[in-house]
Amino acid sequence: MMNEFIIPLADDIYFIRGERNGKLPFSNSLLVKDYLIDTGVSRKHLRRLQKEFQVNNVLFSHWHEDHCRDSSLLGDADFSCHPLDKEVIMDSKKFVDYYAIENTPSEPFFKKYLYEIIKIQDTLVNQVFKDEDILKIGYSHRLKVIHSPGHTAGHCCFYETDSKIAFLADIDLSSFGPWYGGLDSNLLQFEESIGNLLKLDIDIAITGHNGMIEGRKHVKESLNKYKLIIDRREKKILQCIPEKKPINLNDLTHKNIIYHSYNDVFSEYLHVAEKIMLQKHFEKFLKNGIVKKAEKGYILC
Ligand SMILES: [Zn+2]
Repeated sequence: MMNEFIIPLADDIYFIRGERNGKLPFSNSLLVKDYLIDTGVSRKHLRRLQKEFQVNNVLFSHWHEDHCRDSSLLGDADFSCHPLDKEVIMDSKKFVDYYAIENTPSEPFFKKYLYEIIKIQDTLVNQVFKDEDILKIGYSHRLKVIHSPGHTAGHCCFYETDSKIAFLADIDLSSFGPWYGGLDSNLLQFEESIGNLLKLDIDIAITGHNGMIEGRKHVKESLNKYKLIIDRREKKILQCIPEKKPINLNDLTHKNIIYHSYNDVFSEYLHVAEKIMLQKHFEKFLKNGIVKKAEKGYILC
């Protein structure tokens, strides 16, 4: 009997729902024949999956621990990812640098979470893929790589061209909105990546943390709604900048501009991520001539 978290979508294509509905510290996966995208569904789910399917290839959507955790359980498979995310996946010590937690109050807890709770390990990546590569799987499946940077530099989505099923990873269509709080995140690229997905005809979208969305129209609406959250944040930030007085990033943190609440086990870390995300907005403002650099921060143009 098929397990309830293995949901058939088309011939040899399955939505693998992560433990806790794919919410952090887990994520959802897509299985296309013997190709599994991401390994964050939980150890328990991976073990049960292995009883029913042979997984010979693992594709990582990006380096975040909730997507590549527990990869050692599939040790015999070939692992691949985008070249820009390879270094971190291969060397888990680098997570600390990419999340910019060193010498912040969040460092002790975040390290404990990564290395003792999640137990993130180095994964040997044997191969890389790049934008528009088409992976031929069996006789009938064609999985297209869509490099979608922004969340991380090497973040990729995948699109099965026949069934029009897409795996959107952490362009996750959540009500929180896009997350670009890592050092290798990029706001302008994130917006461009969402724009590129909007050009595709997607019949079923599988997200990293928010289940699946069915119907072309519904997928497009969800992508548009998700993109609008960036504009909403932008407006909030602009409202906080006083006329003719410079503002710096420290003035803007703890103000719930990005996170609606800091009441979380990751509380300390949310401040770190929020500051980086605000920084990315100011880089965009600078580029668009909305603010300019002042002696102590930024000032409206
Ligand atoms: Zn992620």
